[in-house]
Amino acid sequence: MSDTPVIGVLALQGDFREHEHALLACGVTTARVRSVDELAAVDALVIPGGESTTMSNLALRWGLMQPLRDRVAAGMPAYGSCAGMIMLADTIEGGRPDQETIGGLNVTVRRNAFGRQVDSFESDLHIPALGQDPFHAVFIRAPWVERVGEDVTVLGRVEGGAADGRIVAVQQGHVLATSFHPELTGDVRVHRYFVEMVREKA
Ligand code: GLN
Repeated sequence: MSDTPVIGVLALQGDFREHEHALLACGVTTARVRSVDELAAVDALVIPGGESTTMSNLALRWGLMQPLRDRVAAGMPAYGSCAGMIMLADTIEGGRPDQETIGGLNVTVRRNAFGRQVDSFESDLHIPALGQDPFHAVFIRAPWVERVGEDVTVLGRVEGGAADGRIVAVQQGHVLATSFHPELTGDVRVHRYFVEMVREKA
């Protein structure tokens, strides 16, 4: 890897452009990943928000699911937001019967967990790993993390309301995931944190 890591963004579906903008603001090179060759050319991967059932279908259809699993299992740093978190979870609740995940994160994630009433909402979270200032988090039909394995670190939880205490940001070694969409707010601290993970790995 050169001094400037190439961070891939899985571009099958979802808000991959917004992740590209956030990553570019962190001073790294990005590349869209839609094929096995494109996956082989990146040092790390961001999996965007969108629709995890569609992403799963497309990854299977385009022959990317197993190569993605192999890369993550081999230690490639990966970060998933929202649908991307679902894609990285070892186990999901509320998935479609044919829905598969890449896995790598020893958690159970519940899809569309916040329910209809608060389908989408915004909330300030305290995420010590990102510094003192609260992180303004945007949730859109978001999942939450229902079970974390022993090797998983909880980075952030919802504060207040019906979902008080629900886990929405986690890390397990080289794998990072958030229920919310930092790519939509202009606060690039989550992306910078991921870039640091990638640099440390190198
Ligand atoms: N509800 C979507 C899913 O299950 C995730 C929503 C999102 O990424 N904003 O894939």
